[in-house]
Amino acid sequence: MRAGALPGLLSALLTLGAAACATIGRPPRTPDPRPNIVLIVADDLGYGDLGCYGNTAIRTPNIDRLAREGVRLTDFSVAEPVCSASRAAILTGRYAVRTGVRGALGPDARRGLPQAEVTLAEELRDRGYATAAYGKWHLGHRAGELPNAQGFDTWQGLAFSNDMWPLHPETPNAYPALFWSGTDTAREEMENLQSQAQLTRRIGRLAADFFRLHRDRPSFTYVAFTMPHVPIAASEEFRGRSRGGAYGDAVEELDAAVGMILAQVDAAARADPARRTLVVFTSDNGPWLSYGNHAGSAGGLREGKGTTFEGGIRVPFVARMPGTIPAGAECAVPMAAIDLLPTLCAYAGADAPRAAVDGTDMRPALERCANPAPDRFVFTWYDGTEVQAVRQGTWKLHLPHGYRSLAGAAPGRDGVPAKYRYDLKTGIELYDLAADPAESRNVAGEHPEIVARLRAAAERANADVRRAP
Ligand code: MG
Repeated sequence: MRAGALPGLLSALLTLGAAACATIGRPPRTPDPRPNIVLIVADDLGYGDLGCYGNTAIRTPNIDRLAREGVRLTDFSVAEPVCSASRAAILTGRYAVRTGVRGALGPDARRGLPQAEVTLAEELRDRGYATAAYGKWHLGHRAGELPNAQGFDTWQGLAFSNDMWPLHPETPNAYPALFWSGTDTAREEMENLQSQAQLTRRIGRLAADFFRLHRDRPSFTYVAFTMPHVPIAASEEFRGRSRGGAYGDAVEELDAAVGMILAQVDAAARADPARRTLVVFTSDNGPWLSYGNHAGSAGGLREGKGTTFEGGIRVPFVARMPGTIPAGAECAVPMAAIDLLPTLCAYAGADAPRAAVDGTDMRPALERCANPAPDRFVFTWYDGTEVQAVRQGTWKLHLPHGYRSLAGAAPGRDGVPAKYRYDLKTGIELYDLAADPAESRNVAGEHPEIVARLRAAAERANADVRRAP
């Protein structure tokens, strides 16, 4: 019989008795101030790939709902426009260049994320969280570099990118076999595209199950989907369904997997309203444009993955925590991937992160669209130790650097990429991203004092990371 069905007096007595027992036996249960945290990172998903970011061909109802029930940032940037370096910054709150993780690590990489780095999982585990990673790791593949050595109680997934396998379209048989592996699963070879087509659902289900099974203490679930990184694949249920083609199929399946996780999060909140969960959804870098119809859209931003133009670094970002983050908010305060660790640690408890981080606690941006650090400089590196671009507020300065581009040539098709040109170079280029997010009009000549200020900051940052171990 439910307590609510009892006559009022009896019900009140029972409640009092239960409270007294609780007081005598153990302290009364107070709501845990630490919310569960679910951090979902898509791979190579572009700024323009979701319904809530203006895509009209690809249906993403679950992520769109997250945005409706939370905050959607329009100016969230990753630290570097490439998988491993981007993830190093997400998980440490530090510029990847400080961690020694460069580019995209392959099976011959000599070092992954060093043990000395303090990851978000380690921070949260210290605060009593159960921690899990599912999907793509890509921060080192040897013992001591895998997720279970970096703060995750459990993990399953791929140690590398899903294209680092013998079926790579440009370098067939150059990579060894690619395995699904982890702390509580046998190694399983990705033999063909059919194996890859199961990954999204599998990652979503593992994350949903982990969340559901950890009710006794707060949980941190890091969900690193391998899609929509090439080779694009969707399971039979989703194949051929999207108006966005094969790429759209992969994104729509990813959205459905997000829905599987949200179903558990919402069920937990209904069962116990004191159990709060912060859900964050983002991507590691912009679209891999040379893959054409197997790449996403940068939504009108310039260039894509592998460049420090906005198309390479600005990605979708939505965060939901009912009661803390207002529903339906849209915010243009610039936030960066280095901010994730300090922000999520702040939600998990009052203490500052253990390690010195480059990011800022950006809760004011998520909760009331306020910028707690309007004057700070944010730097972007790519493929080297020299800053390529620096942001301050809406100003973005490119230092002279080479970049890759299709430069108007036709992109690849159906899984085979076109060749980029690598001979292009920027000069000193200043863009006002508020007026010109597409970085189309260089206004350096009109604002010499801003150029000088940002340039000096970039030089200090270069010297700083060279000094750091
Ligand atoms: Mg990526």
